[in-house]
Amino acid sequence: MEKVPELHQGDRADDWGRFLKSRYKKELGEISRLYPHRRSLVVDYRQIERFGKAGITLADELLENPGKVLEDVWDAIKNNQLVRTRDGKEPKALNIRFTNLPKKTAIREIRSEDINRFISVEGILRKTTEVRPRIVEAVFKCPAGHFTKKTQKYGKFIEPDGCATDGCTFKKVELVPKRSTFVDSQKLRVQESPEGLRGGEQPQTLDIDVTDDLTGTVAPGDRVVINGILRSMQRVVKGEKSTVFDIFLECNSIEIAEKEFEEVEIDEEAEDEIKKLSKDPMIYRMVTHSIAPTIYGNEDVKEAITLQLFGGIAKEMPDGSHLRGDIHVLLIGDPGIAKSQLLRYIVKCSPRAIYTSGQSSTSAGLTATAVKDEFGEGRWTLEAGALVLADMGIAAVDEMDKMQKEDRSALHEAMEQQSISVAKAGITATLKSRCALLGAANPKYGRFDMYGDIADQINMPPSLLSRFDLIFIMTDQPEQKRDLAIAEHILKAHGVGELIAQHKKTPIPGVTQEFIEQQLKPVMPDIDPAFFRKYVAYSKRTCFPILSAEAKEAIVGYYLKLRGIAEPNKPVPVTARQLEALVRLAEASARIRLSDKIEAGDAERVIHIVDACLRQIAYD
Ligand code: ADP
Ligand code: MG
Repeated sequence: MEKVPELHQGDRADDWGRFLKSRYKKELGEISRLYPHRRSLVVDYRQIERFGKAGITLADELLENPGKVLEDVWDAIKNNQLVRTRDGKEPKALNIRFTNLPKKTAIREIRSEDINRFISVEGILRKTTEVRPRIVEAVFKCPAGHFTKKTQKYGKFIEPDGCATDGCTFKKVELVPKRSTFVDSQKLRVQESPEGLRGGEQPQTLDIDVTDDLTGTVAPGDRVVINGILRSMQRVVKGEKSTVFDIFLECNSIEIAEKEFEEVEIDEEAEDEIKKLSKDPMIYRMVTHSIAPTIYGNEDVKEAITLQLFGGIAKEMPDGSHLRGDIHVLLIGDPGIAKSQLLRYIVKCSPRAIYTSGQSSTSAGLTATAVKDEFGEGRWTLEAGALVLADMGIAAVDEMDKMQKEDRSALHEAMEQQSISVAKAGITATLKSRCALLGAANPKYGRFDMYGDIADQINMPPSLLSRFDLIFIMTDQPEQKRDLAIAEHILKAHGVGELIAQHKKTPIPGVTQEFIEQQLKPVMPDIDPAFFRKYVAYSKRTCFPILSAEAKEAIVGYYLKLRGIAEPNKPVPVTARQLEALVRLAEASARIRLSDKIEAGDAERVIHIVDACLRQIAYD
């Protein structure tokens, strides 16, 4: 879209000149020395704001009228000769990049009034294209040898109507690439962070146009803040121009967010509450009962999921290798046994988690993919799958047995090295996937046949299975007592909901709200999910327990016993991986009560769970 000519309300170049001289002398000097290698000046928005009365005006103007501000700053640099290259010349061009904006605009809240304004969006990178040159100033030549220049913007290539030289009537002109100017360009797609979404909303995305020295600096899966000018572009439907416009962000600067769980804010009051809860002697019961309270039974699975939420501690080995702290859990079970429900619940309790299906609809699947599609406009695009998007969190993957073949092999690397390598066409990249995997799968023939060998009914290779710290075989056998309990459990959840709804419409005489809430109790979690998330985030941030001698002894003893009784023909071999798993789980166990020390009790707890899992699949 052609930009509406902007009103020049007084010349601000002088103010910018004063600002830059007083605050960015050093940086400008550096650019002078290193130009053109260094050709971007990064200006902190807060610095502008703090530059007295003029600063507030400049800062406001940047948000409202960024196109003009960029020109003003460039004028200021030229007028004051703030940058001089080593041969004493003026630089051809400079990028002025602004960071650290006070307000973030949610992607789903971007509106037409934001067009041509400077905004800041936050999210996770889903796609990045290859870096390719884009023409910014095209030079054309007519048969008579005259040159015509045409400035190009992001989007459609614009050709002149004919030779622009006075008196020349040639309509036919040809592009002269050698005389034209190009810039490195890359297109990104940023998606709202999963933790900002509640209640299974689909994340929305925004496309970003990145140029020059910012290209190639980020990878899919990165958590970023992107600042830039929101632009619009007319849609073309079946060759006809539409009245509807698309938006994209002309990227001005990128900030990479690295800190873990910084999204979860914990104030002093919450911290006190967390510490108090951690000392409760019933903490394990409370935590476990807060995972999917509407699901009856499955105590061991819930305990495993709890441990997974807290996680072990990642370690860097002296030789530079990395030992994961994330705990992977797999549920293989008959249909209708609440696997999906459990997966959905963990997403609610975790500070950062995403739910996806192995049969995922996106082309990136679980890991990552390189494609050449419309998005890249001819360039290859690298797209992050679920395990990359879940970096530093939990990936709940349902229907894992139905995943794509490519994912299956990439998953090996993702689960152990916690990275995903893509090498296809011109793209070679290693994406981070430091996440814990909670997988759910059905048995090979749909249901477990209790008379057959369980091992034969698991539809996954041993190499993959051995990467899970815990594997649960969940069989659905009719058992009157349990069935009755589940029936009551489900009906209670339904009944109480109805009661509340009805009570809201027409209060039932003699029934108080408290009474209904009392009835609601059994299916309410002991710790509500919002607070639970804080608890988990706090523990992962602050608690790094180490093994006590007693715990170490118990774990090693159990491991040696396992090696002695493991059967070689079982689907899960007992290897050093189990030892690592035991340590991770014990770390998580200590983290639940925010303890610095892994006690014998932690070891016992996790040996009990590991043993229950392995009994079905590693030995009899
Ligand atoms: P799966 O993914 O294992 O096929 P679902 O998670 O879709 O099964 O569960 C099917 C339904 O049965 C859900 O509505 C769930 O709430 C209910 N259900 C199954 N087992 C239990 C249980 N132990 N307690 C309460 N509800 C259950
Ligand atoms: Mg299911």
